[in-house]
Amino acid sequence: MSDPQRIPLNDLRRQLAEERDDIRAAIDRVLDSGWYVLGPECHAFESELAQFNGVSHAIGVASGTDALELSISSVTKPGATILTAANCGGYTTTAARAAGRGVAYADVDAETHLLTPATIEAHLGEVDAVVLTHLYGRAALVEEIADLCSTAGIALIEDCAQAIGAISPGGNRVGSVGDVAAFSFYPTKNLGALGDGGAVLTSSDEVNARVRRLRQYGWGSKYAVETAGGINSRLDELQAAILRERLHSIDIKNCRRREIVASYMRAAATSGFKSPFVDDISHVAHLAIFEVDDRDRVRRLFASEGIATDIHYPVPDHLQVAWRGQHPPSLPVTESLAKRIMTLPTFPEIREDEVQRICDVLHATSNQHS
Ligand SMILES: *Cc1c(COP(=O)(O)O)cnc(C)c1O
Repeated sequence: MSDPQRIPLNDLRRQLAEERDDIRAAIDRVLDSGWYVLGPECHAFESELAQFNGVSHAIGVASGTDALELSISSVTKPGATILTAANCGGYTTTAARAAGRGVAYADVDAETHLLTPATIEAHLGEVDAVVLTHLYGRAALVEEIADLCSTAGIALIEDCAQAIGAISPGGNRVGSVGDVAAFSFYPTKNLGALGDGGAVLTSSDEVNARVRRLRQYGWGSKYAVETAGGINSRLDELQAAILRERLHSIDIKNCRRREIVASYMRAAATSGFKSPFVDDISHVAHLAIFEVDDRDRVRRLFASEGIATDIHYPVPDHLQVAWRGQHPPSLPVTESLAKRIMTLPTFPEIREDEVQRICDVLHATSNQHS
């Protein structure tokens, strides 16, 4: 068993403890229905999720990575090149490669850690689509980037795996501005299932129809393959029923996450740590990221106080051994951030005394080389 004094990066048992009766009822509903894949719960969740995000269609799939792959397949052709950031954990690269598309990388902005119009503009003539990740829960400048993509005649795909509920600078829910958007319901995400799950969102009837075919073998109707490039990626009824239950409280949970990171920011104000966090509705605080000069020392300090830390993400995509080409591009901001970032525990059920302990260490720790 874990040390009761230790503060973990996440503790999914605490969330379940609060909602066990509702989740049990949702599971029982599915058990009694005798329908376990792509049934009434999935359909209901799809329409509730589409409504929550202000789009016409949501399509339930088996994971966030599948959602990215299907999004990419639905708006580009095989052999296309996808422009993305290299600091987002490799999911887009995995998905693009699985779909038989190439990947190119643009550097990120040093303040926000996100792609911006300035970092992508020079590349737009050489690519067929952009995957824009709302990293750590912060909505990127998606309206401006959508305008650039549309001028360049290329597609925009939003990766909303970390940012469900965030409001973009133009006042839209993330996932409603690009041509198509991918969501993940991996258990640790802001909206998490009790297993894997994902969704593709779009307001285009054509993209909707294509993704619905592609998620199930390319079938137009049963056993009739009408679209090449299909896979099997379906959201099961148990996960859909659980997600419906949890979707009710997503805005409240996101607020609580934001409060937690805002407390860290206040505590760190005099210690010299930088963070890409902003305390407003554009950020749903999926991860609490701080930039530290002397990361190993600072992480050891937190560890000695029983506080877990992590790095999201330590190896940029273009430097991963399995993907590294002969001439990996130079992405100086991405590479420098990968050496400096550190993640602190953030989850809605973290206790106030735990937040205080983390704040105390942030306040007492100077971000200086020793
Ligand atoms: C988690 C995540 C994904 C992938 O989701 P899975 O459900 O784990 O496949 C994609 N993009 C980002 C930014 C993520 O954080």
